[in-house]
Amino acid sequence: MPMLDEQGCLTSEGIAAVRSAAPGALDADLAAHLSACDRCQSRVLSDGVPRLTRAKPPTYNATLVVFVAIVLAIVTLVLALRILAR
Ligand SMILES: [Zn+2]
Repeated sequence: MPMLDEQGCLTSEGIAAVRSAAPGALDADLAAHLSACDRCQSRVLSDGVPRLTRAKPPTYNATLVVFVAIVLAIVTLVLALRILAR
């Protein structure tokens, strides 16, 4: 079974070979490729599980709601202080 595909990246068999190899006993060609290829490193380390995606930043609407809430809180505080100052 080929351990590297036509693009030079690890096949499923290659990834299985990397995972099952004893430390220092991996085939030199596989080790050389793995040391230089982020994609294959990620595939070996993720165990086929897709990477977690980053949390999305707050939407514009959420930012607007927070901004309006802060402005309302400030207005309420100013009105309360004006009433108390009488
Ligand atoms: Zn690769």
